[in-house]
Amino acid sequence: MSTIDQNLQAINATMRDAAAGAGRAPDAVRLLAVSKTFGADAVLAAMAAGQRAFGENYVQEAVDKIAAVALAEPATALEWHFIGPIQSNKTRPIAEHFAWVHTVEREKIAQRLSEQRPAGMAPLNICLQVNISGEASKSGVAPAELAALAHAVAALPNLTLRGLMAIPEAVTQYEQQRAAFAQLRLLYEQLRADGLALDTLSMGMSADLRAAVAEGATIVRVGSAIFGSRSYDQ
Ligand SMILES: *Cc1c(COP(=O)(O)O)cnc(C)c1O
Repeated sequence: MSTIDQNLQAINATMRDAAAGAGRAPDAVRLLAVSKTFGADAVLAAMAAGQRAFGENYVQEAVDKIAAVALAEPATALEWHFIGPIQSNKTRPIAEHFAWVHTVEREKIAQRLSEQRPAGMAPLNICLQVNISGEASKSGVAPAELAALAHAVAALPNLTLRGLMAIPEAVTQYEQQRAAFAQLRLLYEQLRADGLALDTLSMGMSADLRAAVAEGATIVRVGSAIFGSRSYDQ
């Protein structure tokens, strides 16, 4: 068994355990394997272990990797999620190559993704990134501006607004981790009560996935705990 295979089994076991501890179904949470900075070989190893959803942060790296993986394993359908910062001049390759985008924080970007989604492809699944910790440097829409953005994005034709995503400030204490994720969950419940048909909370990474699952995450985004530590990053 490969290291990646062993790591995936361990993460899936942790997710099931955290879900059980929170009284949630064992399959309530999906694992997004974050393959940024790792090559097509790493994706192929994870695929061989049964992983199908992959997350990428850098557009050109991702487009090249998607092509390389499709060449090596043309028969296997993977689901690619874009989870990096979005520059407005890079929306077209994102609209053309991904099934999901987790990092929409402005209406203009959402409009471009909708316009550039190729005819004949399923609508692009969207999560809005929310700035939970409120630090000026962090990405994401401010909680006070979230509802307006959500209603605008939900009205765009070639997108399906699925839910919310956040990367809270890194803290090591479990209760502090939970408190940040609880804020995102509350915003999500408010939007649902307001009539938006959301089903996705994208929250939790290698270091805080238990807390995220306890607070209702439906997708956790895990990189280093599967593929190892990264030699470069944003
Ligand atoms: C890199 C990244 C991850 C994965 O982080 P790890 O700590 O390696 O698990 C998750 N989400 C986003 C948005 C990322 O950029």
